[in-house]
Amino acid sequence: MIVTIDGPAGTGKSTAARRLAEQLGFAMLDTGAMYRIVALRCLEVGIPVDDAPALGQLAGSIEMLCFDGAATADGEDVGNRIRTADVTEAASFVAKVPAVREALVERQRAAAAGRDVVTEGRDQGTVVFPDAERKFFLTASVETRARRRAAELKGKGETVDFDALLAEIAARDDRDRNREIAPLVPAGDAIEIDTSEMTLDEVVEELVQRVGSRE
Ligand code: C5P
Repeated sequence: MIVTIDGPAGTGKSTAARRLAEQLGFAMLDTGAMYRIVALRCLEVGIPVDDAPALGQLAGSIEMLCFDGAATADGEDVGNRIRTADVTEAASFVAKVPAVREALVERQRAAAAGRDVVTEGRDQGTVVFPDAERKFFLTASVETRARRRAAELKGKGETVDFDALLAEIAARDDRDRNREIAPLVPAGDAIEIDTSEMTLDEVVEELVQRVGSRE
């Protein structure tokens, strides 16, 4: 069984997906981590983020494993290095490149083949797994999402410029929503959940109930 969870950053999507997968006994595929890995290598190697052929080749050449909260690239644990601000920004640029998307979509389908998976990203219910048994699309206001991200950064001891963070999240949403390929939109048959006023526990509970009601 495939359960897709799509939506913008800061909706609680990743953590909710992980906890839902744990409760169901499914694997959890983090497809954002795959775009982040391509961005990390692109910055390391010095490929311009608009060099489509080079990026497509790069995306197809990295061995990546992004299951259950782990992220490895060619066997190296890159879990922390793909979460920096530079990589976050670059990821949404490399994600606009058709050849990068093609390479990663193929890997995502291969990774999920024959397994029970909760997969999260932007295009899982629309493009990658259009026949998924259950599809969710999580939303939250941009202010709520910026507040959550600010709290997360403060928790790590980082100083936060809230207005800059808000602008950065809005710009990233804009790139994800308005790109030509696989834009961030809910699938027609996705269940939309606005998490602005919900705790993470409430989100997980709602997902578990909705998946259960299908079975
Ligand atoms: O979810 P996360 O913030 O880790 O994703 C990083 C970036 O990767 C997003 O801003 C988006 O541009 C891209 N992405 C995508 N399609 C996915 C998952 C992520 O385009 N399925």
